[in-house]
Amino acid sequence: VVTNVVREQTETSNVIAQTDRGNPDNVVMTGAHLDSVFEGAGINDNGSGSAALLELALQMKRAHPRNQVRFAWWGAEEAGLVGSTFYVNSLSQEEKDKIKVYLNYDMIGSPNFGNFIYDGDGSDFDLAGPPGSAATEALFEKYFNLREIASEGTQISFRSDYAQFFEDGIAFGGLFTGAEVLKTEEQAAKFGGEAGVAFDPCYHSACDDITNVDELALEINGDAAAFVTSWLSLSTRVIDEEIAAAEEAEPAAGARALQVEQKHDITHWGDKWIK
Ligand SMILES: [Zn+2]
Repeated sequence: VVTNVVREQTETSNVIAQTDRGNPDNVVMTGAHLDSVFEGAGINDNGSGSAALLELALQMKRAHPRNQVRFAWWGAEEAGLVGSTFYVNSLSQEEKDKIKVYLNYDMIGSPNFGNFIYDGDGSDFDLAGPPGSAATEALFEKYFNLREIASEGTQISFRSDYAQFFEDGIAFGGLFTGAEVLKTEEQAAKFGGEAGVAFDPCYHSACDDITNVDELALEINGDAAAFVTSWLSLSTRVIDEEIAAAEEAEPAAGARALQVEQKHDITHWGDKWIK
């Protein structure tokens, strides 16, 4: 393969797509950044999130969401969240009010991964997201509990494209499998992998190439994205009521949501699906 690479200041784009189906006044929005840093190809950061979102969008051709689902592949995240900030700022208040929730996926295939959910309820790091973010975190937790896979909260650090959504009071949530921070002994016991090593030793470097993705992490977290997106796209409840719904859902409705997902064949990497 021969590639030509140009480094210059230039104009860049967000790519936005949405379903024809579903209530356009109650939008479930999901996004991942498409760009990388100069140092490398950015396959885990953020080919992993972008690819998962693309597969979800393709599979959703057959779905019947009750709420409109909008997909965003952001430009220029690495230059300072430029694309997503521009997008949110370009919306009228009326359009912002129609977004039920924003779901963000930035790095979901880290080679020495942990399963991290944005701490929407502030239980781990003392900063909660806007109303609805706690419920969103609870839905992600629901998925990991159903699959009996460990997860933990991760700090809302404003280091990814949810930042402007947060600023504008839009509920958000999302996943992250870790970057330059070293995995602790406790986390290695919980998630497997190596303690004392970064979750992604190739973070923002040349070796973030196609070999730098853990397929199990991508499968687990890609399915989590599909689960929460499909749940929220099918529910007309106010988002804060999703927590109670998710709690009551144990286990019958949880299983039903998984069936809905399977029926629509939303996503399925490998053969590790829950029965
Ligand atoms: Zn990133």
